[in-house]
Amino acid sequence: MYLAYALAPPLCWGCGGPARRREPLCGRCRGSLQRLAGEPVSLSGVSVWAPMAYAGPARDLVRALKFRGARGAADAMAAQMAANAPPGLLDDVLGGATLVPVPLHPRRLRSRGYNQAAEIALALARRTGLELADCLVRSGGGATQVGRDRAERRAGPHGAIATCASPRDSPVAGAPARVVLVDDVVTTGGTLAACRAALLAAGSEDVAAVAFARTLGR
Ligand SMILES: [Zn+2]
Repeated sequence: MYLAYALAPPLCWGCGGPARRREPLCGRCRGSLQRLAGEPVSLSGVSVWAPMAYAGPARDLVRALKFRGARGAADAMAAQMAANAPPGLLDDVLGGATLVPVPLHPRRLRSRGYNQAAEIALALARRTGLELADCLVRSGGGATQVGRDRAERRAGPHGAIATCASPRDSPVAGAPARVVLVDDVVTTGGTLAACRAALLAAGSEDVAAVAFARTLGR
């Protein structure tokens, strides 16, 4: 799965200098990651926790995963999330939440070949033992303004988000009761709020969110 990454020369995605194999960042860039306080914050009504500020090497890592095909970076992000999450969020003390990746617009999924949020969620599921349900879909919006028809523009910048009838990769029937949404970066939380609304409408009872990085100062 990570063949391309494993064969690539081990260079740091932050500074381009040498990095250890399977480490997407060199020691210096890892050391300059801006860690956030442990507590979740509320964004657009969703409780969101992220271990890193979206700046410097954390931003480089997100961009590498999103735009440069560095799928191996997802596991490094998941490692940071799993190691630093507040108690109860990503462990199964309370019966365990189900991880649900924020969906990518189908057009972007086609051009990118994978959903970066789903890559992180998969790595996080492997590390935490939590269930994964890729049970949200996005339509309309989400893509560039060019070529959007009127219905898509009405759906807003996040597009319309809904639960899908038969979740991929899911052993869970219907919407899971307790959900932790997974995304790479969170800014306003608008997309997370749309995901949460869709899940609550489908029967979920509790929907929180984690992201690798959070944009500060907005
Ligand atoms: Zn570096």
